Amino acid sequence: MIFLDKCAGCTLCVKACPFGAIHMAPPPGQAAEAASAKMPAVGGRPDGGVARTKAVIDMAKCTFCGACVTACKFEAIEMKKEDGPKKDFSGYKDVWVFCEQKKGAVQTISFELLGEGRKLADKLGVKLCAVILGSGLDPAIPALAERGADKIYFVDHPALKSYQDDPYTEILVKLVEEYKPEIVLCGATIIGRSLVSRVAVKVDAGLTADCTGLDIDAEERLLLQTRPAFGGNIMATIITPNHRPQMATVRHKVMKEAETTKGRTAEVVKKSYPEETFRSRTRLMDVVEEISETVNLSEADIIVSGGRGVGGKEGFATLEELAKTLNAGVGASRGAVDADWIPYSHQVGQTGKTVCPKLYIACGISGQIQHLIGMQSSKVIVAINKDPDAPIFKVATYGIVGDLFQVVPALNKEFKRILTW
Ligand code: FAD
Repeated sequence: MIFLDKCAGCTLCVKACPFGAIHMAPPPGQAAEAASAKMPAVGGRPDGGVARTKAVIDMAKCTFCGACVTACKFEAIEMKKEDGPKKDFSGYKDVWVFCEQKKGAVQTISFELLGEGRKLADKLGVKLCAVILGSGLDPAIPALAERGADKIYFVDHPALKSYQDDPYTEILVKLVEEYKPEIVLCGATIIGRSLVSRVAVKVDAGLTADCTGLDIDAEERLLLQTRPAFGGNIMATIITPNHRPQMATVRHKVMKEAETTKGRTAEVVKKSYPEETFRSRTRLMDVVEEISETVNLSEADIIVSGGRGVGGKEGFATLEELAKTLNAGVGASRGAVDADWIPYSHQVGQTGKTVCPKLYIACGISGQIQHLIGMQSSKVIVAINKDPDAPIFKVATYGIVGDLFQVVPALNKEFKRILTW
């Protein structure tokens, strides 16, 4: 609210509001007179002058960001947020993992989420549930139980064979509304991002995208969702106390896969829905597999990665030779991708892929935080850089200070000599 007696009409708040929600107007009841020069102006100003117009907030545009409160030098604006009645979330329970499948095969991201989901469910004392949609899914179900799911919800229909936004969203919304999970986890994959954002809007859930860490505040039963913020310069922990379910997407290769317990079983709930539930506004014509001559980066055990230090497209040929010898994938920093030396699909980092290989060889990469976010959980990191103070050395298991064009061929020669695969 605005205290009209304090408002000096300085317009600082108008300039500060990023949403164009504040304008200046004569105070109520004085509009006509204010237009007249004879009318005594209202409100006092430190400069001795008087204000004829005062700040007015358009509540339809206001987002309660507080910028105007900070900008006002006269303490004329106050913001009070009303919490409203506390919602009853007692009907929500269990941790759900949406399990992605392709051609009926459960994707490894689902096993990573089951591993993390198990920890969260144990902390909350609830069940870990897997949700899987597809066609001809029966053979996939035991693997979900063996990876820790206590309960498996599945919907089997030819229309669900490949991912489609409309039917997948419709069904997940129906399941969430019926069974009320406390937490829903989903991979931060192309499918996961598309699906879960739609579902979150429809069920009025809190959603945090691209989490790199999850935990539980057991007292408040809150999901603590950690993700990089402000360009990766800080790690922010986000909570969604006013919404259920609490939904999060999690990056591939950040969490460890759940261990397999052979023969472990789970309660299976097979759901069916009327035919119209499976309708889609889009028609899937074909699924075209990406043709890649190199090893898939997200699944690679070894990655040879290049940055701006590689110097150009030709420089990557040196790295590719080493990658070939090691049966490795080729990664890149955004610096190299932005320079158009290598396609974006190779980019590692905050805005690229998250990788967790057994061995990551960083060549001519300085080690900015946005790159480290994508590779620092690699088991062994070897950094090759001619600058001994490059930040990459802080996360490196082994550091080689030198020119990559001497070091990489030398490594390649030696690996070729000793490797027999
Ligand atoms: P530089 O920082 O220029 O480093 C080049 C290094 O090569 C230097 O350390 C130099 O000493 C070394 N060098 C040069 N010549 C040689 C040689 N002959 N032999 C050995 N060493 C040599 N970056 C990412 O990588 N991934 C991301 O996903 C990503 N997302 C981002 C998102 C945002 C919002 C922002 C703001 C930035 C993002 N960045 C990302 C960019 C990031 O901040 C850095 O700019 C980028 O990682 C730098 O790439 P680089 O290390 O290759 O280049």
